[in-house]
Amino acid sequence: MNISDRFNGSTSVYGIIGNPIEHSFSPVLQNTLIEKYGINGVYSPFRVDEDKVGDALKGLFALGIKGINVTVPHKKAVMPYLERIDETADIIGAVNTLKKTDTGFEGYNTDILGLKKSFELNGVEIKDKKVMLLGAGGAANAAAVLLCQLGAKEIILVNRTKQKAEELKDHILKYFNADVSIISYDEMESIEKPDVIINTTSVGMGEGNYASPVKNENYFEGVKAVFDAIYIPWETKLLSDAKRCGCKTINGFDMLIYQGIASFEIWNGISVSDEDAVEIRNILGEYFLRRK
Ligand code: NAP
Repeated sequence: MNISDRFNGSTSVYGIIGNPIEHSFSPVLQNTLIEKYGINGVYSPFRVDEDKVGDALKGLFALGIKGINVTVPHKKAVMPYLERIDETADIIGAVNTLKKTDTGFEGYNTDILGLKKSFELNGVEIKDKKVMLLGAGGAANAAAVLLCQLGAKEIILVNRTKQKAEELKDHILKYFNADVSIISYDEMESIEKPDVIINTTSVGMGEGNYASPVKNENYFEGVKAVFDAIYIPWETKLLSDAKRCGCKTINGFDMLIYQGIASFEIWNGISVSDEDAVEIRNILGEYFLRRK
């Protein structure tokens, strides 16, 4: 269809705010969903500077933007400007999805839903398992809440900056009765191996970046599954080392796809079937690998 036939006075506009935003995969994912479900809409990236978040949200609301994704570094910064925050997003302390209502935006966190779906699809068992969580930033907050919800037996936080790990621990213990400890990267060798390792650090992110937060390449022997929230590169050094040690390895692509599908469902009141989700995941997975 011609672009001039595609948009009209009734076209709904959706978008993503972040900084930087140029490399976001969300426009491809959301415009694919919009097309598949025959919605008269379009989804666009918006680069928003840190000191303009409030102004941007006011403007987006005034323009009637129907749904917004929020990415780094604004996931916490948007929260004071929202009309209502969903309970799970409030517990996580970060929002990545805004839905327009008549009086303002409602905030949700679909990162946690994407991560949960990725665990389900890839057979990662958390209940009664000992889980090591690398990182203490925004993605770690969502992962830590999910681990508590799914009944992990033990959660070991590992972060470069100990203070941030302590803040994360204190935060989740406000809401959950969980067994949470903190160790440094140097102390990893001195404890019994976990069943599952989840990397939410940005170490190893970006094409050609061959770095891992875990220095010992053989550390993963005896670990069952290793998840990395990164999806560029498709296989990080962490996952490559873990695979060589015989672990099940999962990258962040399914998490990305399913957090986006959950946002789309919230905005449009549509339930995306499992079959459609798998089809979209496969098409975009191929597209993503071709694009590299
Ligand atoms: P963030 O809030 O900036 O946190 C980054 C984390 O990485 C912090 O814990 C930081 O430790 C750690 N880190 C950075 N450089 C390090 C280094 N050289 N050595 C050790 N640790 C280091 O970022 P985020 O939002 O949580 O995102 C983290 C990663 O998850 C990114 O790669 C992002 O793309 C990915 N992610 C993926 C999805 C998905 O859908 N797949 C969704 C969200 C995020 P300090 O506290 O010491 O600084």
